[in-house]
Amino acid sequence: MSTIPATRPPMLATAEALAILLAAARRVEGVETIDTLDALGRVLAADVVSPLDVPPMHTSSMDGYAVRAADLAGASEGQPVALSVSQRVPAGHVAAPLAAGTAARVFTGATVPPGADAVVMQEMANATEDGRVAFAQPPVAGEWITPQGADIRRGSVILPAGTRLTPQALGLAASVGCAALDVVKKTRVAVFFTGDELTMPGEPLREGAIYNSNRFTLRALLAKLGCEVTDLGIVPDRLDATRDTLRRAAREHDLILTCGGVSVGEEDHVKPAVEAEGRISMWQIAMKPGKPLAFGAVRRGDEGEAFFIGLPGNPVSSFCTFLLFVRPFILRLAGVEEVAPRVFSMRADFTQKKGDRRNEFLRARVNDAGGLDIFENQSSAVLTSTVWGDGLIDNPPNHAIVAGEIVRFIPFSELMR
Ligand code: AMP
Ligand code: MG
Repeated sequence: MSTIPATRPPMLATAEALAILLAAARRVEGVETIDTLDALGRVLAADVVSPLDVPPMHTSSMDGYAVRAADLAGASEGQPVALSVSQRVPAGHVAAPLAAGTAARVFTGATVPPGADAVVMQEMANATEDGRVAFAQPPVAGEWITPQGADIRRGSVILPAGTRLTPQALGLAASVGCAALDVVKKTRVAVFFTGDELTMPGEPLREGAIYNSNRFTLRALLAKLGCEVTDLGIVPDRLDATRDTLRRAAREHDLILTCGGVSVGEEDHVKPAVEAEGRISMWQIAMKPGKPLAFGAVRRGDEGEAFFIGLPGNPVSSFCTFLLFVRPFILRLAGVEEVAPRVFSMRADFTQKKGDRRNEFLRARVNDAGGLDIFENQSSAVLTSTVWGDGLIDNPPNHAIVAGEIVRFIPFSELMR
């Protein structure tokens, strides 16, 4: 993993830091074949190629009558044309060729009999007393017929390798008969939290302590990405304890994610611990919230290394750095090519007189007028802003925002897909 820089670069721009991370990521090893029904959220390891046309035959998209349009060319209100009904074709049944001068009773999803080139919906046809059916206008050729292969052509790639499987994608795979899919093995992530002040909800809060809220946020974010997570809990602010936990975490995991202790204070032991067990680049990223971020690797006995990412402890900082850096990195480990969230241009309905020298990610909300409001308190300790907001405004360094201006908005829905 020579791509992990050994030196300590100065303050990095957000885009630069992301580019370094993504350049270092490589797909985890291992492919498994699983039931299509169980594949939601997994990543395809191989292209899905359709072995057939969908639909496999010309089908009727209405309940009605399949006809030869030419037979009804002269039909009008004054002079309807009546045809005898030569066959009845429900969905799922075989159709015989349509005899000239006759109509076939068909239903939605039924095979259109060979020779028929239009379907007349039943509301436009009248059964006559002698058992025939009358039409008062000529149909348009091709009407109400979904042609064979209209959705998918046989031999085409319907889902390329690297696709994250959505409910729609599972349906598409099933529509060509795929009962099982080859997917990339789940990324194995070990996570732990540093800080003597951390207490688990459910336990009484000692003086000076706070609850370990980040455990809940980060575990849920990892679960959304389909990772296999090992939670090693809270680790005390001690070098030996941090090193021990890192060694445990490196075993059988692709990525070690930590939270807190990545600054350079006396009580921050993550950096020296990772240096002792592997290597690390400490980054000061020119972003707010979230400045410190650590990236590196921890040795795994004699079988390689596990990636390491250390997030800052402040709840909004760890949340934002996860969304902006860890999420795309994890997606790349899973073999996903397209990892960037979509960014929307939206109107700011507020004024922020002073820009920050760092790239700000402001918690904002879409209002009823289709513009953006901003949460009043943008402190990196105020988790309320992340629940109130719908997403982040990506505000470049030194940029003041004037009401009415168009800003870059990244919805949380994009960052949590
Ligand atoms: P640190 O990055 O360890 O310097 O922590 C920065 C701030 O985040 C401190 O106020 C910590 O108490 C707080 N913090 C650290 N870890 C967590 C956590 N897991 N949950 C909530 N707050 C935390
Ligand atoms: Mg700490």
